[in-house]
Amino acid sequence: MTPAPLDTADPVAPADDCNDTSTLAASGRRPAWDGRKRVLLAAPRGYCAGVDRAVIAVEKALELYGAPVYVRKEIVHNKHVVRTLSERGAVFVDETDAVPEGEHLVFSAHGVSPAVREAAAARSLQTIDATCPLVTKVHKEAVRFAKQDAEILLIGHTGHEEVEGTAGEAPDHITVVDSPEVADTIQVKDPDNLVWLSQTTLSVDETMETVRRLRQRFPNLQDPPSDDICYATSNRQVAVKKIAPEADLVIVVGSANSSNSVRLVEVALDAGARASHRVDGAHEVDDAWFEGVTTVGVTSGASVPEILVREVLELLAARGYGQVEEVTTAQEDLVFSLPTDLRRDLKAGPGPRRSLPVTPV
Ligand code: SF4
Repeated sequence: MTPAPLDTADPVAPADDCNDTSTLAASGRRPAWDGRKRVLLAAPRGYCAGVDRAVIAVEKALELYGAPVYVRKEIVHNKHVVRTLSERGAVFVDETDAVPEGEHLVFSAHGVSPAVREAAAARSLQTIDATCPLVTKVHKEAVRFAKQDAEILLIGHTGHEEVEGTAGEAPDHITVVDSPEVADTIQVKDPDNLVWLSQTTLSVDETMETVRRLRQRFPNLQDPPSDDICYATSNRQVAVKKIAPEADLVIVVGSANSSNSVRLVEVALDAGARASHRVDGAHEVDDAWFEGVTTVGVTSGASVPEILVREVLELLAARGYGQVEEVTTAQEDLVFSLPTDLRRDLKAGPGPRRSLPVTPV
């Protein structure tokens, strides 16, 4: 990934540095297919606003404060992004106690629990919170319902960083529901004071199935005030559903620990793709997949730089799939401003490291 420009006047500059679509058929006007090998390229795909913001936050922190800048967990779940930032001086750690006292620490887009913030404060770390605002929204919902003493069923994957962060906001009130099957057996304290929330990057259809099963058992289950599954996850699933029925093979670019990328494979198969595989990049594409394949669908998860998709398209072109039609199901123009502390320091300009007040928990 080419680093995004580090122009402080443009704090939300798009990180998509490879957006030449001149070789693509225009979206919306589906050309008649002549039966030759082709690629259907889903749009939207790739970087979402939360990932864009988090990656740029680390890049700007590196420029402003100098290396090393520590990052708790992977800033976003993509190997290429993590490797590129590591090469620029970011140091990825699992926990705050691996960061020397007083250093800069970025919280990843997936969010952190209050306990992690407290641990950072105890080490006098200068924190930059790159939690996606759409994850923060779910945290706030959890806090609000916990204050009302409601029991919260958090639909999400056990062990996922986002779920750990959200559950940590109200551990005494939250139970994680990991799958539709768990919904059939879970026990609650008071079925009349129950609300469900969810991880932002789940399969929309599977989540609705989980809710349906929960509501069968607990008819008074409350819905969240607004959708927790984010616009980017939802849009990428709609787009892959559109191309999957026509595709013999759908290739999803994304890392194995990227929840929304893994979901795209499942959604493609459910929507009628004959086969679907996730790859971190073109180097993982297997020629055996192309046997008898005429139409290849391509998409990418929300943490994937476009250059990785371009490399897959180049590989496909070299194997005869040079005709590319982009199929667009939504336009996205959401951008998030950079984390507050970082914006303040960017405004102040370069200089010696300052002791930033750690945001009180
Ligand atoms: S996938 Fe959704 S919740 Fe996650 S960073 Fe992107 S916009 Fe935010």
